[in-house]
Amino acid sequence: MDVVVVGGGATGLAAAYLLRQNGVDVTVLEASSQPGGLLSTFEVGEGARLEYFYHHFFTHDAEINWLLGELGLEDKAIFRPTTMGMMRDGEIYPFDGPGDVLTFGAMSVPARLRFGMSAAMLTYLPGFEDDEETPALEWFRRWAGKEATETIWEPMMDVKFGDAAGQIPIAWMAGRLRQRARSRDGTEEKLGYLKGSLQVLVDRLVEVLREEGVEVRCDAPVEQLIRSDGRVVGVETPEEVMEADAVLSTIPTPILSGLVEEIDDGYASSLRDIEYMGAICTILSMEESLSPVYWLNVADPGYSFGGVIEQTHLIPLEEYGGRHLAYLSRYVRHDHPLWSKDNEALLSQQLGELERLFGRDVKPLLNDHWIFRGRFAAPITGLKFSEKIPSYDTPIPGLYMAAMPHVYPDERSTNNSIRIAAAAVEAMGLDSGFVPEGTSLASSYG
Ligand SMILES: Cc1cc2nc3c(=O)[nH]c(=O)nc-3n(C[C@H](O)[C@H](O)[C@H](O)COP(=O)(O)OP(=O)(O)OC[C@H]3O[C@@H](n4cnc5c(N)ncnc54)[C@H](O)[C@@H]3O)c2cc1C
Repeated sequence: MDVVVVGGGATGLAAAYLLRQNGVDVTVLEASSQPGGLLSTFEVGEGARLEYFYHHFFTHDAEINWLLGELGLEDKAIFRPTTMGMMRDGEIYPFDGPGDVLTFGAMSVPARLRFGMSAAMLTYLPGFEDDEETPALEWFRRWAGKEATETIWEPMMDVKFGDAAGQIPIAWMAGRLRQRARSRDGTEEKLGYLKGSLQVLVDRLVEVLREEGVEVRCDAPVEQLIRSDGRVVGVETPEEVMEADAVLSTIPTPILSGLVEEIDDGYASSLRDIEYMGAICTILSMEESLSPVYWLNVADPGYSFGGVIEQTHLIPLEEYGGRHLAYLSRYVRHDHPLWSKDNEALLSQQLGELERLFGRDVKPLLNDHWIFRGRFAAPITGLKFSEKIPSYDTPIPGLYMAAMPHVYPDERSTNNSIRIAAAAVEAMGLDSGFVPEGTSLASSYG
């Protein structure tokens, strides 16, 4: 059996590995010049690599731990205690556990109690992960109260979903809270990373695939699906036509929609119906640290970023030549003014905002910066999203697909890319039972 995998991100590479374990002849076609997709890295200086978009994994991520073992990379995984903070009214509050909620001075004591109770309900009571009809913000207003909703939940959801925040169901938020709770030991949260960056995983995976005879081709955008007797029998890139018994697409659903619209317009329109948020990450290389915590949520309104994520609070700065590295992160829709804002104007705005936030001029501390945008960073998982999730086995014979929408109700992640790749391989009638199933809820639908 010959399979072409379209897309060389985490899902495509993991699927190629699983297909090869089934004895399938596989070719991976990746549009860009390097494999890795959203895991891609760049040289941040002194030979060190860093992801365009902040990345960590969780202690309970069984699938990625398994893959690291398969690739002989277990010794590259590092788990470190991390800290979280909440910036509100110009002050940073620790936000690592229930004790911190009780001392969160930006809210009244009754609001703190209601916030803590509502978060505990979502984390520990059954049923919420299936409630796709109640908007999270509506639920928060009722159970956490107006003050806690406006102080914490609304800003956090705005950063992630913008004006779609009101449409996100409580099921999604329950999933998030449970995921974080599982990676906590008491109040301490440990997060994982790879020595040398996630590039180590991508490089080794590609190396093993190539050793096993899988072709991984970059600069090979699939522009068309080839059909015969109503069945997909190959793909076309600008360079060539490639025949296959089956095609597995792992590209974002809006792009797949364009490839199938001449074949099945109804299917194309159902894929188009899934909207994605874009992500903007500004990376600052600084002489000094900005904040005392790894993950700082900015809950004050009026900022172009909602998170300050200091990589060098996860990985020692010696790994990066002694410089402090921080991501300023934000998700926006593609019609948001920030999405198309000129990079220099964005940087200048953000440096001004940092001065306002931290009460000091950070410009003299800055020795380099980079800005990355990911167009298809996360699907907008609105109410009853499970009904929109496409099947792994598409209505077009010979065409299979796995993409970020399949990770719902879980959060998209490298770990969940492996889980959905396994589900796609099963849908192709092959075996993926050798991949351990962790606590991930990805692939529950589709
Ligand atoms: C800001 C941000 C932070 C994140 N943080 C974390 C984190 O902390 N931990 C974690 O585990 N995960 C994190 N993720 C999520 C993780 O990066 C993704 O879930 C995962 O990388 C998705 O992989 P994928 O292969 O499904 O998609 P992608 O990475 O999008 O890969 C799709 C690939 O398809 C290619 N492609 C597109 N069109 C074509 C075509 N026509 N022909 C051929 N190829 C094509 C693209 O170039 C791309 O390489 C984060 C993501 C973002 C954006």
